[in-house]
Amino acid sequence: MAKYLVTGGCGFIGSHLCDALIEQGHDVIVLDNLSTGKTINLNSKAQLFVGNICDSSLVNMLMGQVDGCFHLAAVASVVRSNEAWAETHATNQSGTVSIFEAASQGGKPVVYASSAAVYGDNAVIPLTESSQVRPLTAYGVDKLACELQAQVAGRIHNTPTMGFRFFNVFGERQDASSPYSGVISIFADRILSHKDIIIYGDGSQIRDFVYVKDVVQYLIGGMRQASVRAPVFNVCTGRSSSIKDLANILFSIVGYDVKVTYAARKPGDIQTSLGDPGALVHQFNYQPQYDLYSGLMEMLASE
Ligand code: NAD
Repeated sequence: MAKYLVTGGCGFIGSHLCDALIEQGHDVIVLDNLSTGKTINLNSKAQLFVGNICDSSLVNMLMGQVDGCFHLAAVASVVRSNEAWAETHATNQSGTVSIFEAASQGGKPVVYASSAAVYGDNAVIPLTESSQVRPLTAYGVDKLACELQAQVAGRIHNTPTMGFRFFNVFGERQDASSPYSGVISIFADRILSHKDIIIYGDGSQIRDFVYVKDVVQYLIGGMRQASVRAPVFNVCTGRSSSIKDLANILFSIVGYDVKVTYAARKPGDIQTSLGDPGALVHQFNYQPQYDLYSGLMEMLASE
């Protein structure tokens, strides 16, 4: 059994990862500044250090205690990255460099979260890892820069990494209360409270929704396969769902409808985001086990 550092372990994806690692018998220490994460999300067997990933001495101290690091801490909001450019850059890129640098002291492997935001509005369908990257936002640029810094970690510092370009991850513990929340948590929260929902645009926007438990399987698998070549994989299902489909599936699961209001499309909203999971499935010999319907069923059953 191993001991891992999980940054952002009090957040949505990180807390599920901690559960799975602990379930497998590993020891877990978490570094989180609780900016969006919550201690209530965290497995009681994980050891929490409240602090910032930009604090090099803290990161070095924690990295010295572990066999590898899952780096998920970020300001995970495109909107926020546009509002607070320098502040989010400090976490999303400089914080990642601080993690890579600490890992390089002992050649520790790092599995880290990138994002489909690196593709920007690239309309090639489906997106493969070799599709052109053209991020449109500070968030997407920082995530792409993290991938380039991972190459530096491998090439210059002999530190193995694996990056994952998450598409739209959904599941339990995704915060619905934040103004930056994902569409699934907002719709689910409102529908369960019998409140109407707002669709921005005509609802034909396509997304590739991937369930958090599948994401965790790839993260854990990535730790064994991290490499100095700094590989990067899409984490997606290759199944397209429109925002209207999403609302209808939620209505069918709960057994009632709520009023749907349409509003002007949000500026910068991407029409189609659909990934090709081919390289991912080949690398890990694991197909996503959940589709949107089964993931939502499991998510709502735990509400
Ligand atoms: P989240 O906001 O729930 O989790 C992020 C965690 O990082 C939070 O617990 C937060 O408190 C912590 N954090 C933020 N800044 C920090 C700092 N400077 N120091 C220490 N801790 C800090 O978000 P999430 O959805 O779980 O996202 C996890 C990772 O996956 C992020 O890197 C995000 O960019 C990436 N990602 C998520 C999605 C998605 O659909 N949820 C899609 C693409 C990429």
